[in-house]
Amino acid sequence: MDILGFIPQIIFLALVWFALRLIRRNEDYILDFYFNRIKWQTDITKDEFYRFAKYLQESSPYFRNLSHDGKAKFVHRVKHILGTKKFEGRDGLQLTERMVVLVSGAIVQVTFGLNRFDLSHFTTIRLFPEAFYFRLYEQYLKGGASKSGVILLSWKDFEEGYADEFDKYNLGLHEVAHALKLNVTEGNRFDLKFASYLDTWEEIGMLEFARMKEVGESFLREYAGGNMHEFFAVCVEHFFEATNDFKKQLPDIYNHLCVLLNQDPSNFEEDYELSNDFAQSVNKDKDRIPIPEKIALSYNYVTSHWSFSLTALGIIVLWPLAFYLYSLTVMNTLEFYLLAALFIIIGIEQWFWFSEKAIMSIRFFPFYLIGGFSPSMLCLFLFINLNLAISTSESTYFIKHILPDGKYKSVLVYSNSELKDKRSLRTFSNAELFNSSSEPNYVNYKFSNGILGYRSVISKNAY
Ligand SMILES: [Zn+2]
Repeated sequence: MDILGFIPQIIFLALVWFALRLIRRNEDYILDFYFNRIKWQTDITKDEFYRFAKYLQESSPYFRNLSHDGKAKFVHRVKHILGTKKFEGRDGLQLTERMVVLVSGAIVQVTFGLNRFDLSHFTTIRLFPEAFYFRLYEQYLKGGASKSGVILLSWKDFEEGYADEFDKYNLGLHEVAHALKLNVTEGNRFDLKFASYLDTWEEIGMLEFARMKEVGESFLREYAGGNMHEFFAVCVEHFFEATNDFKKQLPDIYNHLCVLLNQDPSNFEEDYELSNDFAQSVNKDKDRIPIPEKIALSYNYVTSHWSFSLTALGIIVLWPLAFYLYSLTVMNTLEFYLLAALFIIIGIEQWFWFSEKAIMSIRFFPFYLIGGFSPSMLCLFLFINLNLAISTSESTYFIKHILPDGKYKSVLVYSNSELKDKRSLRTFSNAELFNSSSEPNYVNYKFSNGILGYRSVISKNAY
């Protein structure tokens, strides 16, 4: 094959490389778009919207301070939570629409800055009329969030939490904070930026936590000294209910909590958004722990990733499929493996992307290349070549031998060495070969000439 014959293949490889780069650059953007644009389009009737907004307006100061656009976003998210979780009333509590909207509202408030806001690991929310007896701990509880994905709340205490907006007690926000953390450590769908920054925030929080233990007093209420889980949950309560004091008393913990939750409750003029110069203005003060310009993504908590599934799929499905497509294509074994190797080389470039995000260990990466990336690209290559033809051609070969292959099939050997490497294309059923009285002498092949430079057989006829 002359050099010009490789042009379509080179173009294909360049396109693959270009597409990979494009996906890599826009991955975050694509996710944002999916979760914040497409998923928002929950259908909600006007009546329903007004009812939800009314409950929230009356009970939630956070909601009251939002713009029209912010309120729309909030209600859309509430509606999504209502549609994806099961609410249960216990100990005789009759659930009302107001109850479930306000409880969903607590989730939406804490996760308002996050793309993945729905705590998908938590499928059930159980409401009790008041503090309830919890057999496992042998005591009465006001609320809880379990590893198995259930949020428990005493409705009486939930309402009291919102009744005084500045008392630093808010049961709903407290339990949602626990659930938000558990959603990362126990679940498998969570906000990646939140998960990536969680450990950094805890390191910063640790300083105050240790000080609390030592000195025995803090701006945070004593309960935060229990353990780091309670510390986080109590910080979230103070974040929303004592915003300005928190910012003044523990600025580092406050600032980095803004980064972690991607919102700033003191910025109620702009729907609590982190302003563009947030990092800049914090970092001007050399006494403060600096804010990163961008959160470095970490896949520490990620237990499933598409690359793992692709590798499993590759071994079970894609390699056999690639061999099948290869059997239909006039391509010899050496070319096939060279192409596979070429895709592995192209795939190596992806390592920098994967390693930067710490998605996979270097030990797994070869499995991904050989098991996932290379066969999927081979399939794509052969599939495109097979299905997009630029022309057709015909060839006739003289039969030298007919070798029986089992009871019903035979393999032909041609006098020139055509198709020497393609036994699959030289195999005929005996019924096809010996349908007339005499043995056939010639075979006529009709080929389609694929766009990527390889022929494949449309029909073959022995006569
Ligand atoms: Zn707690």
